[in-house]
Amino acid sequence: LELTLAIIKPHVVKNPIVLKKIREIIINNNFKIIKSQRKIMTPNDANAFYADHKEKFFFNRLFTFMCSGPSDIHILARENAISKWRQIMGPTKVFYAQYSHPQSIRGKYGLTDTRNATHGSDSQESAEREMNIFFHDFDTL
Ligand code: ATP
Ligand code: MG
Repeated sequence: LELTLAIIKPHVVKNPIVLKKIREIIINNNFKIIKSQRKIMTPNDANAFYADHKEKFFFNRLFTFMCSGPSDIHILARENAISKWRQIMGPTKVFYAQYSHPQSIRGKYGLTDTRNATHGSDSQESAEREMNIFFHDFDTL
């Protein structure tokens, strides 16, 4: 089994109907939820989590949004969890997701490129790094 870090972004956590739909998608795709935490990201969390994006033009709005309210942060387990979760999420950019992958999570529930509903780790290395930011006591070995 592989682990991935999934984040349900703040605009979804505020919307009980969409939150329930996304939880159903997680369960129906045979992910096991290993750890969960509802948390308002601190500036420290967001800086560490998005360190690779610090120089990008969208960093400030992403940072501000992710610290604006609670996110649901999950460690998910499944065979090929990382690529499967990213496949179910769909493309990063919401208008492209709506057009090319209308049944994906971002295609259905994304509002903007910042508020694109969910996050998913992009490699085993980043999954490990991201899990350590939010679950300090979690031994991934
Ligand atoms: P995530 O890491 O959230 O799973 P991703 O791997 O598909 O998404 P990244 O390039 O890692 O995309 O970008 C991280 C986040 O930054 C995206 O989820 C999105 O909210 C935001 N973002 C990325 N590219 C853009 C962009 N061109 N314009 C605005 N926001 C963007
Ligand atoms: Mg990414």
